[in-house]
Amino acid sequence: MITTDLLIIGGSDAGISAALRARELDDQVSITLLLSDDFPNFSICGIPYALSGEVTDWHHLAHRTRSDLEAYHIAFHSNTVADKIDSEAHQVLAHNSDGSQVFAYQKLLVATGARPKSLGVTAPTAATHVLRTMADFFAIEDLLTTNKPERVAIVGAGYVGLEVTEALIKRGIAVTMIQRGQEVLSTVDSAMGQEVHHVLSAHGVAVLTDQTVTEIKSAKKGYMVTTSADETIHADLILVVIGVVPNSQLLAQAGAQLDAATRAVKVDDAMRTSLPDIYAAGDLVLTKHRLLGNTYLPLGTTAHKQGRIAGATMLGRSAVFQGVLGSQVVTVLVW
Ligand SMILES: Cc1cc2nc3c(=O)[nH]c(=O)nc-3n(C[C@H](O)[C@H](O)[C@H](O)COP(=O)(O)OP(=O)(O)OC[C@H]3O[C@@H](n4cnc5c(N)ncnc54)[C@H](O)[C@@H]3O)c2cc1C
Repeated sequence: MITTDLLIIGGSDAGISAALRARELDDQVSITLLLSDDFPNFSICGIPYALSGEVTDWHHLAHRTRSDLEAYHIAFHSNTVADKIDSEAHQVLAHNSDGSQVFAYQKLLVATGARPKSLGVTAPTAATHVLRTMADFFAIEDLLTTNKPERVAIVGAGYVGLEVTEALIKRGIAVTMIQRGQEVLSTVDSAMGQEVHHVLSAHGVAVLTDQTVTEIKSAKKGYMVTTSADETIHADLILVVIGVVPNSQLLAQAGAQLDAATRAVKVDDAMRTSLPDIYAAGDLVLTKHRLLGNTYLPLGTTAHKQGRIAGATMLGRSAVFQGVLGSQVVTVLVW
C-alpha cells in the first residue's frame, strides 16, 4: 500500500493546478498523482493548433516538462487508472500494467475531467473519431498524414469544431460541418453566430445547420453521412465534437452527490464533495456561474482555477471559488 497526505486522480488542468498550489503552500506535504495516460500537464486546448501546424512540435503542448514537474516533488503514477474509491477507509484502488495497487490518503481530489459525448449512431468501425486526449490527437494526426483525406465531416459546430475546421482548412482539406442547432457556435447570440457562419462559408466550408446525423455507411471511397434533412455528405474522415459529459463514475460509485440532469459532481465553494475528505475540480463538477447559478460549463480556464482552490482547501487553508461568467474568446479562420 502507498500512503500519501494528498492523493490526486487526474493529471490535466485541475489535477496539476491543485498539486502545484498545494506544493506552493506546503513544502513538506506528500502529494501523489495518478493519471491514466502519460501526458501530465499537456494543453489539450492547444491540440487544434498542433493539427494546424501552428504548434510545430506536439511536445510544446506541455505546459511544463516532466523534469519541471519532478522539481515539485510530486509522485507521479502515469498510465495508472483509479478503479474504486473507498471513502470510509480513505483508500483508492488503482491498476496499471504491473497489477493492482492501493493508495491510502488523508485528502483526495478527483479531477478526472470529462469524456466526449457519443453520436448515438451506429457507424462502421474506424469511421468516426473524437478529440479529447493526446492519444486522440496522435490518431487523427496519423490519419491526416498517412491517409491524406481530402474531405472531412465535422459533427458539431461549437468552438472545438470551429478550431479544428480552421486547422483542416489550413491543411487544404475540404470541410463540411453538421450542426444540430439553428446556427453555429450556439454559446453566442444567433446574430454573432451568423457572422461566424458567413466567415466559414467565405472560406469554402460547407455548413449544414438544424440537422443531425442519422446514418453513417461505408462508401466506395470513405464514408457516406446522411442527415435528418436528407443531405448526403461524402467524407474520408468523420470527426465528432458534440460536447462532453462529466467523468464522474468513480465519485458516483463512492456515493457522492451528483446533479441529476448532467451527472456532474456537486461541490461547494471550497471544491468539497458531499463525501468526507474528498474534493473534486474541473470538467467533472457542476460550476458556479455568477449569472446563471450552478451550471455545467467545462472549460480549462475554470479547471485551473478550481484546481488551485482545491489545492489550498485540502491543506485546510481558506479559499473560495468565485464562479465564472462564461466569457469566451475564439478565432475563426483569421490569418
Ligand atoms: C480540442 C479542445 C480544445 C479546447 N480548448 C479550450 C480552450 O481554448 N479554452 C478552455 O478553457 N478550454 C478548452 N478546452 C477544454 C479543456 O481542455 C478542459 O476543460 C480541461 O482539459 C479540463 O481539465 P480537467 O483537468 O478537468 O480534465 P481533463 O483535461 O479531462 O483531464 C482528466 C485527467 O484525468 C485522468 N483520468 C481520468 N480518469 C482517470 C482514472 N480513472 N484514473 C486515473 N486518471 C484518470 C486523465 O488521464 C487526465 O489526466 C478544450 C478541449 C478540447 C478537447
